[in-house]
Amino acid sequence: MMKKMNVESFNLDHTKVAAPFVRLAGTKVGKNGDEILKYDIRFKQPNKEHMEMPGLHSLEHLMAENIRNHTDQVVDLSPMGCQTGFYLSVINHDNFEEILDILEKTLQDVLQATEVPACNEVQCGWAASHSLEGAKEIAAEMLAKKDEWRQIYKEEA
Ligand SMILES: [Zn+2]
Repeated sequence: MMKKMNVESFNLDHTKVAAPFVRLAGTKVGKNGDEILKYDIRFKQPNKEHMEMPGLHSLEHLMAENIRNHTDQVVDLSPMGCQTGFYLSVINHDNFEEILDILEKTLQDVLQATEVPACNEVQCGWAASHSLEGAKEIAAEMLAKKDEWRQIYKEEA
């Protein structure tokens, strides 16, 4: 038995999951009843694959900017340090199917993009590390596996 950790994802057995998937990783309710929901959007199979940094970075810029055209309930969208996925936090949005729909629309936006937003030294902390083509490859692969997003764990043999 592993010790129970403070961070929800540290209690997730990463050898049992089947990426890509979208998983509710946690909720917090504020004192006024507002609810923050955090989703684990896993693009790559943990410890088998990862996103290369320039493509991941451009995907972050593109998704962070475009997802807010589809909902005003985004709190944050940030990449995981292991380079296998992103966390999406939303406020008062517990409709999982709608989250999947928003994600799909946002990834379609990435495929249509002609440039990476805020890809310059004024608006970004490492403006030289970007790849629009890399971001599009990641988005296209994720969209091609859309039917798998609801399945988090591997089928038992
Ligand atoms: Zn940046």
